[in-house]
Amino acid sequence: MLELRPTCENCNRPLPRDAPEAMICTIECTFCRDCVDTVLSNVCPNCAGGFERRPVRPAHAWVEGAPQFPPPSTLVVHKPVDPATHAALIASIGGRSPSQR
Ligand SMILES: [Zn+2]
Ligand SMILES: [Zn+2]
Repeated sequence: MLELRPTCENCNRPLPRDAPEAMICTIECTFCRDCVDTVLSNVCPNCAGGFERRPVRPAHAWVEGAPQFPPPSTLVVHKPVDPATHAALIASIGGRSPSQR
């Protein structure tokens, strides 16, 4: 189940469970859409994967018998991207789309 990390790893903006701008990679590195588009160029600095919008988790248990949601993670991961390191990663990817990486 998704951890729902509480903030953007780059800019530390709050990203609550219902944030429409929360984006995740395949290993759930979590960034805001602004950082994905303008800083990361849709390349995860940790795993080189692309990003998709993080699904909103319902606030209530609407479905009888469904698993209980654990509370969202409160562990802040704040690791601002180093521009030079990220530029080198983007160069090595050479324009490949996420499905070609
Ligand atoms: Zn951000
Ligand atoms: Zn990642």
